[in-house]
Amino acid sequence: MDLDELLNNDSFTKEEIIFLLSLKKEEEINKLFQRADEVRQKYCGNEVHLRGIIEISNYCEQNCIYCGLRFDNHFIKRYRMSPDEIVKTAKTITNEGIFTVVLQSGEDSYFDSEIISYIIYQIKQNTDVAITLSLGERNFDEYKKWKIAGADRYLLKHETANPRLYEAYHFKQELSERLEHLEFLKSLGYQIGSGNLIGLPMQTIEDIADDILLCQKFDLDMAAFGPFIPSPHTPYHKKKGADVLLTLKTMAVARLVLKNVHIPSTTALATLDKNGRKKGLQCGANVVMPDFTPFPYREHFQIYANRKCMLDDPKVCSSCLQFQIESIGRKISKSKGDSLKQNAILS
Ligand code: SAH
Ligand code: SF4
Repeated sequence: MDLDELLNNDSFTKEEIIFLLSLKKEEEINKLFQRADEVRQKYCGNEVHLRGIIEISNYCEQNCIYCGLRFDNHFIKRYRMSPDEIVKTAKTITNEGIFTVVLQSGEDSYFDSEIISYIIYQIKQNTDVAITLSLGERNFDEYKKWKIAGADRYLLKHETANPRLYEAYHFKQELSERLEHLEFLKSLGYQIGSGNLIGLPMQTIEDIADDILLCQKFDLDMAAFGPFIPSPHTPYHKKKGADVLLTLKTMAVARLVLKNVHIPSTTALATLDKNGRKKGLQCGANVVMPDFTPFPYREHFQIYANRKCMLDDPKVCSSCLQFQIESIGRKISKSKGDSLKQNAILS
């Protein structure tokens, strides 16, 4: 395959995606990254959207094999933030000039449809922000109530598009069910985000190509490609973490294939590589998701070990991010950063 020609393609077959993900020569990889940066500039412009995350609970009823919050991990201290603490933290986020609040947690049914609706309503009453929910798989009635209460977006990663691996990582849960949830969220008018974990045991380059193609099929508004980092007290604690270069190549290829989609440069990538955040932004990403979970809770949201900026004050993180973003000639967006797709229902 001729690389220069391929990089200028408008659409890509699975074989072409595998070819790009498998590039080995530094010069060729640099060409891929440069092209991803051009495509990002064309479809997303120069702005970086910040999404302030509040990790409202680390209780989880699921047992995902790779995750430190899994039900069977009895070594972490569990917490739930109160609705008032959550609403107050949302206010802190907007005061920092960030106009998306992400409410994230394990699958925690204690936060039922009423409590989450109340929190959404209170945040929307007090501030002009977009709200993203990342609360795992919940029932369809809850998704509906939360949409009516004012939620704008839902982030539910498919994690892997390989049904066999999905069952292995999630103890017989089925990928088809996960995808039904995504379909349902979309039908309710949520802007939807999904994505994979890179570097999980048994995963192949073909699987990653399928992940990108699944994101294309679902016409996502946001697609996240995060590296797996082994987490203590999980069955995968001794496994090898993801390769940074493969993560960056995945983000770059995803940008070429998916085009007008929001792609975050993840905290997990910044955890694996001290310049990971910037590298991601230069390989196709246009979103960063700083953590605003207050102390003492934040250090207990241990999805994986040694998370970047875990002990930093969120305000310090904000100025550090601003510096990093401006140092690569980009600027922080002052908008909510809604979907780039024309058919999305905007907040
Ligand atoms: N419970 C919700 C949201 C919190 S988990 C859910 O599962 O959707 C958010 C994300 O953390 C997951 O989608 C998963 O991709 C990521 N994650 C879990 N364990 C991880 C690990 N060990 N390394 C990197 N990311 C991980
Ligand atoms: Fe729970 Fe989400 Fe972790 Fe799975 S990935 S164990 S659902 S917090």
